[in-house]
Amino acid sequence: MHFLSSILEQYIADHSQSEPELLQRLTRETHLKVIQPRMITGHFQGRVLSLLSKIIGPKNILEIGTYTGYSAICLAEGLQQKGTLHTIDINEELHAMQRRYFDESGYGSQIIQHTGDALAIIPQLDLIFDMVFIDAEKVSYDHYYEAALKKCRPGSVILSDNVLWSGKVVEPLDPKDKATKILIDYNKKLRNDPRVETVLLPIRDGLTLSRVL
Ligand code: SAH
Ligand code: CA
Repeated sequence: MHFLSSILEQYIADHSQSEPELLQRLTRETHLKVIQPRMITGHFQGRVLSLLSKIIGPKNILEIGTYTGYSAICLAEGLQQKGTLHTIDINEELHAMQRRYFDESGYGSQIIQHTGDALAIIPQLDLIFDMVFIDAEKVSYDHYYEAALKKCRPGSVILSDNVLWSGKVVEPLDPKDKATKILIDYNKKLRNDPRVETVLLPIRDGLTLSRVL
């Protein structure tokens, strides 16, 4: 989804950190071999995630929705030396491809893959996360958020991706469209949730930044 003119998008990308070669390759392989390649984080948003992670300097990161591993590598770039990134995906077919790229990225030993439903796996993780990236099934966003919040501390940062849902959150609602309704409710909830302070950033398809109080 493009909210800005393509010429402005190009200008923004050209004046941001360039995309590492490994991630360019990962994007190409995802388009060649994997279904729904439009789910992958792109150059600009990837650099935003990387820089946010470097600013936060997290010891532990939780990612919900690994897909082919693009965003995981970006987030891992900011990990502390002995830090870990736990990433969860329900689709086991992607596991081997993720691992190849994680190992090549240099963060392989710090990235721990979990295969299964995030809602079953998160409660089993005995860790406090400094940073969380929510990017799996949109209809479960609120459940991921509640599960993740239990594993956060004051100051932890929770990012929620695709919250503008191609702009559908401000269009007349199709009653059959569950994901949009859930995202509208989710965005409202985060805005009013006294446990966090929240800004919705108009980055790509919408990226909400919430800081746990
Ligand atoms: N973060 C990735 C894109 C994630 S796409 C990137 O930016 O490159 C969403 C992923 O969520 C898909 O790979 C899908 O298999 C996974 N997913 C869907 N439902 C899930 C669930 N309940 N638990 C864990 N992963 C899930
Ligand atoms: Ca996404």
